[in-house]
This record gives sequence, C-alpha cells and structure tokens, in this order.
Amino acid sequence: MAETLFSKIVRGEIPCDKVYEDDTSLAFRDINPQAPTHILVIPKQDIEDVSKVEEDSGLMDHLMAVATKIARDEGIDEGGYRLVINKGANGGQSVDHLHIHILGGRQMIWPPG
Ligand code: 5GP
Repeated sequence: MAETLFSKIVRGEIPCDKVYEDDTSLAFRDINPQAPTHILVIPKQDIEDVSKVEEDSGLMDHLMAVATKIARDEGIDEGGYRLVINKGANGGQSVDHLHIHILGGRQMIWPPG
C-alpha cells in the first residue's frame, strides 16, 4: 500500500500529540477534533483499512483494548463515548491507514452524518 502521513507520524517524522504507544500501536489527538476528546488509535504497521486486517491476527482485539483503556484514562468511560472506523470513500475515510476514532465528552447523535 502507499504510505500515508500516519506512517510518518509513526516514525516521528511528523509530530503528533501522543497519548499512548506500545510495540504495535500508537494513539494521538486528532488535529481537527470533532468532540472535546477526539483521539485516533492506529496500528504501527501500514494497513490500508479495516478490511485488510489479517484474520485471527488479534490486531483488532488489541486496538479495541487500547481504545477502551484510553477512554478510561481520559475520563470519558462513565459518560460514554463513540468508537468509529471509516472505510473507503462512502465510509468517509480520508487517510488510508487504518484508524479507530475515539470520540467523547459530548452527546453524540444518531444517525451519524
Ligand atoms: P478519516 O476521515 O480517514 O476517518 O479520519 C482521518 C482523521 O485524521 C481526521 O479526523 C483528520 O482530522 C485526522 N488527521 C489528518 N491529518 C492529521 C495529522 O496530520 N495529524 C493528526 N493528529 N490528525 C490528522
């Protein structure tokens, strides 16, 4: 897959407001936040979107565990929050590197736009 700016963030070539890092994942604040808390959780590996995750790799389990831990650490667990994965053009994906949005700190509406 073609590299995206998130690969450069992983390598530290583009700065980010990092909130969490481990061997396989990185989380940082969204540059254009859509909620008081808006954090992106990404795999360090270049993976284009959620459909490209290897079956039974455990990667999504890990990313979800990281996201829920961050939500607890950010103090948005009790009030609730939303996790979003956009996939492709109709899904609204603008960066072709898998990421989970953590959105919290305000009331979300349904259906989403
Ligand atoms: P998508 O639309 O692909 O689901 O989400 C991509 C997200 O990445 C958007 O919410 C956008 O604001 C965020 N984003 C794009 N470029 C950067 C950047 O350089 N730094 C950070 N921290 N977030 C970015």
